[in-house]
Amino acid sequence: MTAIATISDNSSSRTIDWQAITKDFIAIVGDRYVVRTREELIAYECDGLTSYKQQPAIVVLPLTTDQVAAVVKVCDRYKIAFVARGSGTGLSGGALPLPDSVLIVTSRMKKILDVDFDNQRVVVQPGVINNWVTQAVSGAGFYYAPDPSSQIICSIGGNVAENSGGVHCLKYGVTTNHVLGAKIVLPNGDIKDIGGKIPESPSYDLTGIFVGSEGTLGIATEVTLKILKSAESIQVLLADFTSVENAGSTVSDVIRAGIIPAGMEIMDNMSINAVEDTVATNCYPRDAAAILIIEIDGLEIEVAESAKLIEAICYKNGARNVTTATEPEQRLRLWKGRKAAFAAMGRLSPDYYVQDGVIPRTKLTYVLQEIEKLSEKYGYNVANVFHAGDGNLHPLILYNNAEAGALETVEELGGEILKLCVRVGGSISGEHGIGADKKCYMPEMFSEADLETMQWVRDVFDPSAIANPTKILPTPQTCGEGAKFSHNAKYKLMERF
Ligand SMILES: Cc1cc2nc3c(=O)[nH]c(=O)nc-3n(C[C@H](O)[C@H](O)[C@H](O)COP(=O)(O)OP(=O)(O)OC[C@H]3O[C@@H](n4cnc5c(N)ncnc54)[C@H](O)[C@@H]3O)c2cc1C
Repeated sequence: MTAIATISDNSSSRTIDWQAITKDFIAIVGDRYVVRTREELIAYECDGLTSYKQQPAIVVLPLTTDQVAAVVKVCDRYKIAFVARGSGTGLSGGALPLPDSVLIVTSRMKKILDVDFDNQRVVVQPGVINNWVTQAVSGAGFYYAPDPSSQIICSIGGNVAENSGGVHCLKYGVTTNHVLGAKIVLPNGDIKDIGGKIPESPSYDLTGIFVGSEGTLGIATEVTLKILKSAESIQVLLADFTSVENAGSTVSDVIRAGIIPAGMEIMDNMSINAVEDTVATNCYPRDAAAILIIEIDGLEIEVAESAKLIEAICYKNGARNVTTATEPEQRLRLWKGRKAAFAAMGRLSPDYYVQDGVIPRTKLTYVLQEIEKLSEKYGYNVANVFHAGDGNLHPLILYNNAEAGALETVEELGGEILKLCVRVGGSISGEHGIGADKKCYMPEMFSEADLETMQWVRDVFDPSAIANPTKILPTPQTCGEGAKFSHNAKYKLMERF
């Protein structure tokens, strides 16, 4: 960190007195929790999208809502950008710092503040890790449904900001369906309660706007979550197929039969072999073109009936074998490889770039064939793992970042996949967010008027454009002149960062 820095904003430049700002932060959180040496800042220079790196000027680790508010007020006073960060596992560069920005990290805010079993509510600080919530309530027969594969490390604050999903979100919905309210620190440092403990409030749905806003509308410092009663019975089925298409048509047939499983996941041959090499489940057949994992839950009699029906649908669609598991340990074994799928890519390639497109279930076969063609055209292997039930694809493009030009080509290939998803009526993100990674593809999906409306919402919360600026919405500086939407002057404000 340099003591004094100069920022240009196209037309003028201004000087930031980092020494004075550091003093202010130390007065708020204490010297130990203001990270500012180059070596220490390395730990914060990227999130899960490791191909983008940028050190912030300072990292601050507050402990309470009041401390977050005080830190944000300093940022507002000096008009410097701040970026919130939970565990830094985001895959779209949402927590990527900006130059001359302050990174506000919530990892010390890890208290479960209130557990209300009668009303099935839990209030947590944002740094609480996703699966700590289930651990805290499972003894009483409850659980927290959204379960990203990163759930042993990602934070609730990050989940809220990304509106995260998981393998069990097909039946129960993604994070937004499980957040009732929050305490947030607005970008001017004011503290505001949104939503509450009751499911509906007779006003604008500010909680709905905040969830998925990727740190651009403020920082959540307390979150009220809904917990669910654990199901009486759970069964997991694993079917293996000689074609991905057959696995895909099984998914459609199960839904058509009126069954909504808790989750339905497909992994292709490349992913199967990578996870078997890594975690050795010994239950994913290495020669299968695809495996389909289906979890059903509910009353015992209902689960048993559904399992029979699903098994028959799998065989009708050409499954070679269907394994079922009812005991917790057996079920975990069937899930183990899926949960480790991203990490297992390290077996196949030094680097991978994961995409997160959504398509209508009915287009699965077509889209996979097109991805295969794109993979051949660009010369990079693509492994596929997906939340098949809700059409959320995760193509994993394998590459070596050390090769000159590889990242640029791989990003272009990823972009082609996103455009393909939009062309078939889908979306450029299912759960990983837009962040820095996908903002230039927003115009593929949204009209100029749509983007401006989003910008207006953002301006209401953050008129000074200091909360994670330059993320989500395209700006001309990073996405070219086409991103200059006519009535929007705010991109100029953002581009000073
Ligand atoms: C191996 C692996 C598997 C994954 N699997 C899944 C999956 O199955 N489903 C899924 O949805 N995602 C998945 N992810 C992505 C990632 O784990 C999620 O996006 C997660 O919610 C990020 O949480 P985090 O605490 O790491 O957030 P961070 O990466 O620290 O931040 C993410 C975003 O949230 C903002 N933010 C953080 N805290 C706050 C706060 N308190 N208030 C406001 N904004 C805040 C940041 O500014 C940033 O924009 C996976 C990632 C990895 C590495």
